[in-house]
Amino acid sequence: MKKIIAVDGPAGAGKSTVSKIVAAKLGYTYIDTGAMYRAVALKSSRSCEDLIMLIDDIEIELDDRARVFLDGVEVTKEIRTPEISKLASDVSKFGFVRKKLTELQRKMAERGSVIMDGRDIGTQVLPNADLKIFLTASLNERARRRFEELQMKGQEVDFDAIKKEIALRDKQDTEREIAPLKKAEDAILIDSTNLTIDEVAGKILTLCSTD
Ligand code: C5P
Repeated sequence: MKKIIAVDGPAGAGKSTVSKIVAAKLGYTYIDTGAMYRAVALKSSRSCEDLIMLIDDIEIELDDRARVFLDGVEVTKEIRTPEISKLASDVSKFGFVRKKLTELQRKMAERGSVIMDGRDIGTQVLPNADLKIFLTASLNERARRRFEELQMKGQEVDFDAIKKEIALRDKQDTEREIAPLKKAEDAILIDSTNLTIDEVAGKILTLCSTD
């Protein structure tokens, strides 16, 4: 059985939904590294302190119910706004931010069997992961899913604006100099455009149990 699983891919590909299902089925810890970049973004949006100082003593915790705590206070909902999505992508280009979060993520992975999702898990954070997945889907499909998700939450949403926001974030994340979003050479590519969540989770579960 594969113990350390890395899942990377662009925004809205379904990484966190699928990773949560796999974690629950296998009894693994799920680590959402995007939530950590979002927590840094939230802190910087609330402070006039220099990012380099602000990151120094930041405390970010994720619990087993996917709740996110920033400096001891729960921020699970606050980090999920479009503004914080964009700001997370902006702050994630800085080497000192990545270094700090990469260290925290590696420590979290020492806890045992984990499934960690993000942009650079297979390439930088856990290059020796037992299984690496690169999960993607067409831009249109990813925007459609995000649109439906926000609509279900009762938010007023504009499909074209969501599509634009995702495309911009993909561009920033793929083109940044440090740890850009890219498929690790030994990652398995899954295109979820025409797959259901359960089908993707099933594929990953099968890959976890095969040698
Ligand atoms: O996964 P999520 O959409 O929550 O990530 C928010 C942002 O955090 C991404 O757009 C990306 O810029 C950044 N991120 C990153 N490396 C990771 C996870 C997220 O740069 N491992």
